[in-house]
Amino acid sequence: MRQLIGGEWIDSRNGRVFDSVSPWSGEVVATVAAGDQDDTRAAIEAAQQAFGPWSESLPHERQGIFLRAADELERRGDEVIALLAHETGCTRHFADIQLEFALSLLRQSAALPYASQGQLLPSDLPGTRAMAVRRPVGVVGAIAPWNAALTLSSRAVAGPIALGNTVVLKPSEHAPACGALLAEVFVAAGLPPGVLNLVTHGPGEAAFVGEELIANPLVRRINFTGSTTTGRRLAEAAGRHLKRMLLQLGGHNPLIVLDGVDLDYAVDAAVFGSFVHQGQVCMCARRIYVERPIAEEFSERFAARAASLPVGDPADPETVIGPVISRWALSTIARRVEEAVAHGARVLAGGEARPPCYPATVLVDVPPDVELAFDETFGPVVVIDAVEDRDEAVRRANASAFGMNAAVLAADAAQGMEVARRLDAGIVHVNDQTVNDEPQMPFGGTKDSGWGSFGVGFAVDEFTELQWVTTRDAPRPFPF
Ligand code: ADP
Repeated sequence: MRQLIGGEWIDSRNGRVFDSVSPWSGEVVATVAAGDQDDTRAAIEAAQQAFGPWSESLPHERQGIFLRAADELERRGDEVIALLAHETGCTRHFADIQLEFALSLLRQSAALPYASQGQLLPSDLPGTRAMAVRRPVGVVGAIAPWNAALTLSSRAVAGPIALGNTVVLKPSEHAPACGALLAEVFVAAGLPPGVLNLVTHGPGEAAFVGEELIANPLVRRINFTGSTTTGRRLAEAAGRHLKRMLLQLGGHNPLIVLDGVDLDYAVDAAVFGSFVHQGQVCMCARRIYVERPIAEEFSERFAARAASLPVGDPADPETVIGPVISRWALSTIARRVEEAVAHGARVLAGGEARPPCYPATVLVDVPPDVELAFDETFGPVVVIDAVEDRDEAVRRANASAFGMNAAVLAADAAQGMEVARRLDAGIVHVNDQTVNDEPQMPFGGTKDSGWGSFGVGFAVDEFTELQWVTTRDAPRPFPF
């Protein structure tokens, strides 16, 4: 599998390749170009060259490309779903969610070229007409993760391109073929050469690409979706270059269950929010706070449902818990569960790896100082805690370095809203679980979960420069 640079599918300049491997079967999904800073530089230069004409392209040309890209992606839907399973271990229901999101994103982005590009501003200088004009920024670097490879790569490129920018996309080393498929879709839709470029790299070599994207002055913005650790490191480097970044990072998301709630619904919602894509979604619930009168019954029913979730081959539509992305990730999950248990946690469900899977796992009595209790563990593990009242639920929910999202399940929505408005999170859902996204929503976290938003419409702030322009019809007086 090659890189896309300036409209050509090419090998890496250093000639190296690596294998993208299925997390379920260990089979080679694709043999991929292992690019580095030289390929990245070439891709940036190709994007810069394409920027002028693309930024001046007519709205209907851009719209047509996005609509054709959506049709092409839809036509290849079965292939996309199979690839997501093969390369990233994505189960059928989550692949359907990803595909639906990406199609909607492309179709909504098709309207962006027609969005208003500025404002007229009143001026106190007689005869001056003042405007705030939005202009595309130029080359955008897009760094995407593997977990929701289709949706997160699509949103990393769709807004920037629709707004007249050009892009260098760096997919994860765990999902290069998914990134290439997206690029193929845009090429088939008629996107001009150089508007979208794809650079791939081998395991452990992301920094070759990332450092060039950050340091190269032609790159005007970076968007990053991934872990807080990596995002923080990149943001520090970007700060040295005064380069703006959009950061969508990890979460340690609380789900609060209030007394009086419909327990059947609460259990169903919490099971989905905790275990979708085997817990490998930044929005997954990691901590469930339940009011004490219902805590025991909720925990028992929740654990029973978790224990019953089918584990196995992601290509089987019945599977709920597919494989964890890598052996390293699996061992991190296992180590953190073992640490919690060694410090007094009780396992209500799961708790033993079944390589390459980790079954849905429910823990109680987890002490606050073990990693599971405060850090994002990217897998199907959730902690339940009883709380005395709503105030304690809010206090504990907010006692986190993260601020991605939160959810409140309550007997009525007003009661839920009263709790929700006190939660420090970028996204809060009442009477729903934590995992929700639609392309037009202002998706984004606070605190260590990042800043900025990809939402169609909101992305305008991220991927355009605001320029103040004035014009006069006649000379004006000057004081000297
Ligand atoms: P995850 O644990 O979800 O893989 P990461 O933050 O490691 O989260 O990865 C998210 C994206 O960031 C991936 O595309 C990965 O290759 C990339 N990445 C990791 N390290 C760096 C780096 N030093 N520079 C640029 N990108 C990086």
